[in-house]
Amino acid sequence: MIPLQQQRAWVNINHHNLTHNVKVLKQWLNSGTKLMTVIKADAYGHGAVKVAQTVIKAGVDAVAIATLLEGIELRQAGIEAPILILGAINTADEVKEIVKHNLEATLCSPHQAQVFADTLQSLNYVLPVHLKLDTGMSRLGTHWHNAVDFVKYVQQFPQLQLKSVYSHLATADEEDTTVMKLQQSRFEEAIFALKSANISIPCLHLANSAGTLCDRSLHYDLVRVGLALYGLYPAPHLRHTVPLKPVLEVKARITQIKTIPAHTGVSYGHTFRCDRPLKIAVVGIGYADGIPRLLSNKMNVIVQGKLAPQIGNITMDQLMIDVTAFPDLEVGEIVTLLGEEGEIVISADDWANAIGTISWEILCSFKHRLPRINLYEA
Ligand SMILES: *Cc1c(COP(=O)(O)O)cnc(C)c1O
Repeated sequence: MIPLQQQRAWVNINHHNLTHNVKVLKQWLNSGTKLMTVIKADAYGHGAVKVAQTVIKAGVDAVAIATLLEGIELRQAGIEAPILILGAINTADEVKEIVKHNLEATLCSPHQAQVFADTLQSLNYVLPVHLKLDTGMSRLGTHWHNAVDFVKYVQQFPQLQLKSVYSHLATADEEDTTVMKLQQSRFEEAIFALKSANISIPCLHLANSAGTLCDRSLHYDLVRVGLALYGLYPAPHLRHTVPLKPVLEVKARITQIKTIPAHTGVSYGHTFRCDRPLKIAVVGIGYADGIPRLLSNKMNVIVQGKLAPQIGNITMDQLMIDVTAFPDLEVGEIVTLLGEEGEIVISADDWANAIGTISWEILCSFKHRLPRINLYEA
């Protein structure tokens, strides 16, 4: 086995920074508000098991994932914290797996509650459940107007232990807070209706990262933080809030260096053609590793502490850079695709802005072929 440090490309996961982010997020929360970290999609490409171990050591109260299999992976790795499945579960077989692995489920509708209750009764098991209201995301959940009926419906089943009622914000990362405020008022309306019906809910939650950072009145009893945990801000105007540190870096090695004459095309399609002789380097990383192909001719990499432009179409396993300005570069040298060297930083936001997507999507693409090096694990 080749040591990870000698491979052609890899991802560094900085557990110091992860711990730091947990710490500053906890300081930011209203006193009494709990922190649930969202580690779905293999912890946004950072590696769910190791991330879970670090954040639990750092004091988070619970973790959330999207799918049943993600939850099972964590339990099988020995994670003991409460694990909430954010996605919808609809079959008896899945409910049995949830019970077997001691996971907690989201219920989005009375119909789902019925499926759960039937299965749980046959198993003679009481399951903690979290009820989801739709206050304007128009994704999962029961319409907020029907909160009281929904909760009463669930409460008739002794196998369903009501642990929380929650909703999800659609626009908390926007500077215009109109829709967010509307969703909050709907959530409040549901809470008021529940109180008026003498129903007490042990835990209420609404905020994602953006909600957590933009307005403490959204904190309630718990917040569900994903993106910010990994050191990115949901929007530039939230940068003044807490000092987050990016956790993931992408590195690769130079695999060949050559000089090409003027008017030479580079890579598939020759979308780049040089007008003078160039020294170019091939870097051993491509779109199959998670570098978006749309970044072709639109990105830089950090070489010896300076920026070098990427040229030509990014290929599946390799990409080319212009290193004419680097006289003493050698094969085997490491370049930084995402991360920082000295004064220079390339962030997932830079990539997202260049190709019209969001940093969330950039992060989750590093999960297939790149080995992960976990730095500073506690
Ligand atoms: C993914 C997700 C989150 C986390 O969102 P971030 O914007 O990454 O903080 C929170 N709640 C739910 C329901 C989610 O699906």
